Amino acid sequence: MKCENCGKYEARVKDYRTIDGITGKALHCKWCANLDDVALYRIRVEGIDPVSFYEFIDYEKISIEELEELSEVVRNRIEEQLEDDGDLEKFLEYERHLTLREEQPR
Ligand SMILES: [Zn+2]
Repeated sequence: MKCENCGKYEARVKDYRTIDGITGKALHCKWCANLDDVALYRIRVEGIDPVSFYEFIDYEKISIEELEELSEVVRNRIEEQLEDDGDLEKFLEYERHLTLREEQPR
């Protein structure tokens, strides 16, 4: 099931929000779940990718499945980040993962 807010990513978080004194539960992707109500509203109305609200993406906390979901723009950002961090081993591991994906179409 896709995120009820952005509709882009898989819903993985039960997100409880209180708006105007009423608490409601929504199923959100982990990107939307960590943003405030204003950001959620803008994502919904303007169709912004929730990942674009993040300055820094902690690639160590992203699973392979989540990585696959991300847009090319975001994946490029992660690649740049890996290079900037000088974490060569992580970068190579990530490259290997991308290569494997291309070799094994599902
Ligand atoms: Zn979302």
